[in-house]
Amino acid sequence: MAEQDRSHKAQKVLERMGKKLNRQMASSLAACVHCGNCTQCCHYVLANPGDPTYAPAYKADKIRKLFKRHFDWTGKVIPWWVKAKSVYTDEELEELKDTVFGKCTNCRRCSINCPMGVDFATFNRMARGLLVSVGIMPEGVAVVSKDQWELGNQMAVLKEDYVDTLEWMSEEMQSELDDESAVIPIDKADADVVYSINPREVKYDPRTIADAAKIFHLAGENWTMPSDAWDMTNFGLFSGDDDLGGAVARRLYEKVAELRGKKLVISECGHGYRSTRCEGQNWGQWDIDYPMESSVDTMIRYVKEGRIEVDKTRNDTPVTFHDSCNNARSCGLYEEPRELLQMVCTDFREMYPNRAENFCCTGGGGAMSMSEYTPRRLKSAKIKADQLRATGAKIVVTSCHNCVDGLTDLIKHYKLGMEVTQLVNLVANALVIPPKPEVEAPAEAAPPAKVGALQGRRILVIDDEPDICEFITAVLEDNGATTFRAHDGDEALEVIRRESLDLLTLDLNMPGRDGAGFFEMMRKDEGLPTVPTVIISGHPELRKLIYERHVPPPEGFLDKPINEEDLLLNVRKVLDLVHQS
Ligand code: SF4
Ligand code: SF4
Repeated sequence: MAEQDRSHKAQKVLERMGKKLNRQMASSLAACVHCGNCTQCCHYVLANPGDPTYAPAYKADKIRKLFKRHFDWTGKVIPWWVKAKSVYTDEELEELKDTVFGKCTNCRRCSINCPMGVDFATFNRMARGLLVSVGIMPEGVAVVSKDQWELGNQMAVLKEDYVDTLEWMSEEMQSELDDESAVIPIDKADADVVYSINPREVKYDPRTIADAAKIFHLAGENWTMPSDAWDMTNFGLFSGDDDLGGAVARRLYEKVAELRGKKLVISECGHGYRSTRCEGQNWGQWDIDYPMESSVDTMIRYVKEGRIEVDKTRNDTPVTFHDSCNNARSCGLYEEPRELLQMVCTDFREMYPNRAENFCCTGGGGAMSMSEYTPRRLKSAKIKADQLRATGAKIVVTSCHNCVDGLTDLIKHYKLGMEVTQLVNLVANALVIPPKPEVEAPAEAAPPAKVGALQGRRILVIDDEPDICEFITAVLEDNGATTFRAHDGDEALEVIRRESLDLLTLDLNMPGRDGAGFFEMMRKDEGLPTVPTVIISGHPELRKLIYERHVPPPEGFLDKPINEEDLLLNVRKVLDLVHQS
């Protein structure tokens, strides 16, 4: 094809490539000698024996050929020898998309095993950014990027919901510690620590916020959380869009400066830590004059300085640790999580290989948002599943919210029967709460009657699995609720029409009507009362399906397996929010 016949998008990609190439990428693009050392490092290769299209060097050559053809002298002199080739059509760009987004999680395991120092993930990210700049990307990448551009966080959490969640967690902490001074300070100026989090914590795991707050409070920290610009994640790392990366990082840096915070502490998230601490300053062209650290370092310091006391015997279930690619390979956080684990657990078992050689959770590089590649991702996850199974541990700990989702998904797929948790949860569980000084009660004061947190609430549980139905109703009834059960959509409709309900929980997998369709029907039917709904699903990929429907979204969403604490927290949160509105 002639140069003048090149599509507009292909032309733009090549022009932008010239602007994005730097010395690190150029040397990686030039240095490969095709020795094949990296081939067996990649989890995609190991799960797809005999398919060369997954080999790191093969994938890299799809980008390298463009570099050679347009930017390297060898491609100009001996193009046939160095396999230099251009790109002409939008179809070729779509093929490139399949490779750079769908066949690599940018985990950098191949990079650290290359004798020539080729860092494929670096220029794979660049290639993603080139495609994004002309609008070629998986749909999930477009949706998440838009949310982070427009709403300031990648899960479209509204400011009211974020602040409500912090206030709700404050109340939980006050009641647990029986201490009115135990609050989450919001927008406090001149704090020693500004704490930034992943929006997943607000939307799906508020327990991690409560646990961190308890640790800060008991450590006597002078801390705060910002009311806005609080998201430390950065989808620019995954999409390759440096402009998005810079804008997101600057928002947080500027907020800390505005509050005159003395240190930024980043909660447990691999890509958030890498983006905020290591890359954001370059993307955002912004020099910061305060230190940043992972909350793992903060928690270690509190224990070592005696600011919190921990009892490791409270965490006696066998645990293993999964190194997040971004925390470990890209930022060098290898020993810190292990040091903390030894402080708060009695039975820590290493997974092999580990540290720099650990395998990706397979949800990295934004893979969890690209549902079209889910079957490929889960197939490649067999390597991780084998690693996990071999430890014999019941709990896998990781310092990354993205890895929590990736691991949860593969554990379910490969039926490993393990739980996933984070260090903050283990530290909080091991905390020794200092006793309150005894206050003599007036003799005549009778103790108040104990009232369950859900007293008077009427809740319908829709689930076809009897064990799960039994578990959910038992937890709700133990806390004072009146419950109703339905095993399919028809039974559920009868109860919704007959009873006055405060809330319902809905399983997405039901016989007859599918849960997502049932949910949409309920929301559309003006003859039915609108009942606040908590979706409970064993299929995280269905979440997108629910939120894409043209009806008001569910008020809550929980992933199976569920536990008592998360169930209660979510149900109470939904009821409190509905009550306030
Ligand atoms: S190990 Fe390095 S030099 Fe060898 S094929 Fe892989 S990228 Fe190329
Ligand atoms: S960065 Fe990771 S996923 Fe990508 S090719 Fe290398 S080893 Fe495979």
